[in-house]
Amino acid sequence: MSSTGQTADVSVKNSSPSAAASMVAAPPAAFEFLDLKAQFATIREEVINAVTAVMESQQFILGREVRLFEEEIGKAIGSRHAIGCASGSDALLLAMMALGIGPEDEVITTPFTFVATAGSIARLGAKPVFVDIAPDTFNIDPSRLEAALTARTKAILPVHLFGLPAAMDSILDLAKAKGMAVIEDAAQAIGASYSGRPVGTLGTFGCFSFFPSKNLGGAGDGGLITTDDPALAERLRLLRVHGSSSKYHHSILGTNSRLDALQAAVLRVKLRHLTEWTRARQHRAERYRRLFRESGLSEQMVVTPHAPRDSVHVYNQFSIRVRERDRLREYMRQHGIPTEIYYPVPLHLQPAFSYLGHKRGDFPQAELASLEVLALPVCPELKDSHQEDVVNTVAHFFRQRN
Ligand SMILES: *Cc1c(COP(=O)(O)O)cnc(C)c1O
Repeated sequence: MSSTGQTADVSVKNSSPSAAASMVAAPPAAFEFLDLKAQFATIREEVINAVTAVMESQQFILGREVRLFEEEIGKAIGSRHAIGCASGSDALLLAMMALGIGPEDEVITTPFTFVATAGSIARLGAKPVFVDIAPDTFNIDPSRLEAALTARTKAILPVHLFGLPAAMDSILDLAKAKGMAVIEDAAQAIGASYSGRPVGTLGTFGCFSFFPSKNLGGAGDGGLITTDDPALAERLRLLRVHGSSSKYHHSILGTNSRLDALQAAVLRVKLRHLTEWTRARQHRAERYRRLFRESGLSEQMVVTPHAPRDSVHVYNQFSIRVRERDRLREYMRQHGIPTEIYYPVPLHLQPAFSYLGHKRGDFPQAELASLEVLALPVCPELKDSHQEDVVNTVAHFFRQRN
């Protein structure tokens, strides 16, 4: 399962350079990187009942389920308004449409993220302006923001990558001083907080995704935008239904981007379990740190994710940094241990963004991270023994090389 691809199983196989290049047969993974079947088994009845109720109502577009879900998740996130939409990518797109961002505008963001972050900026005809990441957090480096500002900068789009909030104080201060909007890409970070404030409530907008591999994943695609601004919330509600407040009357140009009632029904069930699942992820992360300490590997060999005191990390991914990442990954694969790479190519080096004219060396920290990151399984359903296997296999790899 991958947050980089839309058909999860296929994307995992195709995104693995070692799997494609290697002719050596490996045993099938001993367990799942993300075990959604095991998760479903724990909520099966609740989900089936919720889905059945929607089928019986035959109300699939917006309506009661979506309204209730928006109320419940708005409360859970701590935002006044929560607007469901068709995907996390659309959440970003709609947020920027609500701000009127388009050609001639620039939006500052990170090159080390899923393609949708910068893709949605470009899709509106605006220019994504990349700022390199801080190596310890993988998030946009606040000390480099000011140098990227121009008279055309309309917004900053930080990503809370892997579930760790970006350095929001610096970002918000700068945005305020320059009169810019802040759009939080919180697709991987539902439930995370920064200085006691939940992500999605810090900027002008928070954008969330319910892609199945996210911490709150639906039974398909879905997304959400949060805002405290009632006028912007109203605009978003119009934009997602072709700018229509009454049937066939269109005040502004929008699009079709709604959250399905079926998705809302499933998400309402899963939202009730989110706190417990998040705690399980955090527990797994702490256990990884302890197991790596006990393994005797030096902290230089395996760098575990940074956990700043002022933030709550929700570990959509537990990404370590290692040298010889590709060899380690292949060794893990040979031993039946599933891992993933988020992200193997930073956005400024993707062919889709070649028109921006960037070259290797422009964002060295993002480039280095793309060579060194390795995501280890951290889902709530992971067994203790499997987690020990993960750490032992990493330890074996480094021991046999020294
Ligand atoms: C998943 C993701 C998105 C897009 O969400 P979709 O629901 O898949 O469209 C955007 N940004 C980041 C950082 C993501 O991880």
